[in-house]
Amino acid sequence: MSTAPKTAAQAAGRAATKKELPEHFKAYKHVWVFIEQERGQVHPVSWELMGAGRKLADKLKVDLAAVVIGPEGEATQSAAAESFCYGADLVYMVADDLLTDYRNESYTKALTDVVNTYKPEILLLGATTLGRDLAGSVATTLLTGLTADCTELDVDADGSLAATRPTFGGSLLCTIYTLNYRPQMATVRPRVMPMPERLARPVGRIVSHPLGLVEDDIVTKVLSFLPDRDSAKSNLAYADVVVAGGLGLGSPENFQLVRQLATVLGAEYGCSRPLVQKGWVTSDRQIGQTGKTIRPKLYIAAGISGAIQHRVGVEGADLIVAINTDRNAPIFDFAHMGIVTDAIRLLPALTAAFRARLSPHSRDRIAS
Ligand SMILES: Cc1cc2nc3c(=O)[nH]c(=O)nc-3n(C[C@H](O)[C@H](O)[C@H](O)COP(=O)(O)OP(=O)(O)OC[C@H]3O[C@@H](n4cnc5c(N)ncnc54)[C@H](O)[C@@H]3O)c2cc1C
Repeated sequence: MSTAPKTAAQAAGRAATKKELPEHFKAYKHVWVFIEQERGQVHPVSWELMGAGRKLADKLKVDLAAVVIGPEGEATQSAAAESFCYGADLVYMVADDLLTDYRNESYTKALTDVVNTYKPEILLLGATTLGRDLAGSVATTLLTGLTADCTELDVDADGSLAATRPTFGGSLLCTIYTLNYRPQMATVRPRVMPMPERLARPVGRIVSHPLGLVEDDIVTKVLSFLPDRDSAKSNLAYADVVVAGGLGLGSPENFQLVRQLATVLGAEYGCSRPLVQKGWVTSDRQIGQTGKTIRPKLYIAAGISGAIQHRVGVEGADLIVAINTDRNAPIFDFAHMGIVTDAIRLLPALTAAFRARLSPHSRDRIAS
């Protein structure tokens, strides 16, 4: 792997490296997206990646394919049909009841087999818990490069995948190329890419591939499945309205003011990283580079300075409202509306005003 060429000499070096690619690498063509599904639920990041993959495929003038892996039956078929609605030219499918639950060995075998047989030049996966686990082992098995947590994907004039991600604590962006190995693999976190439009065209060519495993080949055994019943678990990444607090709130007690406003608005609540580090808020609520990326219609940030690591997680929001006592706080550089005041005083007033004005039904209007 290599970073983006900054000089003509570096670019020439890259071109020379590309010329030395083994002949059989030319067999690698097309852009693929791994469609992540568990128990019949496709993770929306898969469709976001289909949108990103479509742009890459169009630029390269190749096909966009979805890879659907799961148990035999309706759920896997329906994930394949949905893939066509999100722009797949074809679907590679490995359907086997051994793939009912995600297990690293069986999913790695399924995905690496399809890659080795049909040879994509680019393979994208969501940077979810499952996607990170799978991407790492697939890249290791295929002996290829993997750029994790990308924030931008593009193709260069020579057709190489330019995978951009933050580095040095988010203060710099670097573009990483996988020059000498194929496929070029990348993961992208949920909500980093916009959701593409869904088209009503649920049919297309499906290429089925066998798993080639029996249960005895798989060391990991699923003894039981316990659904996540934690109703307090955050849906931050996909929330329409998010209220968040930062160190400016001064204490965990004052952070409750954020939660109260979020409750009245029917919103999710979040925070900046120091609040997680102090133990005031759980880590699933952290917004930013090392937390969640959000794309709400409305984001209210109270007592948050707007450091770059926070900014990258929120700049996809349609409307950012910042409350900060310091009129020079960086958050005012990218907020759409700024209120220079003490959030500890303003938050309860906002909560009371919204409570008085909003009936439970009218809350939905905020999100529409
Ligand atoms: C590798 C790395 C990864 C990181 N990842 C993340 C990440 O994912 N998410 C993240 O958020 N940060 C992340 N950070 C930390 C980031 O750099 C900042 O330190 C952090 O975002 C600052 O949090 P803050 O804005 O709450 O606190 P501060 O920077 O201390 O800002 C507090 C703000 O509150 C204002 N304020 C004070 N009192 C009040 C009041 N009464 N009312 C209103 N405003 C008030 C102040 O003017 C100030 O602007 C990361 C850092 C590193 C190095």
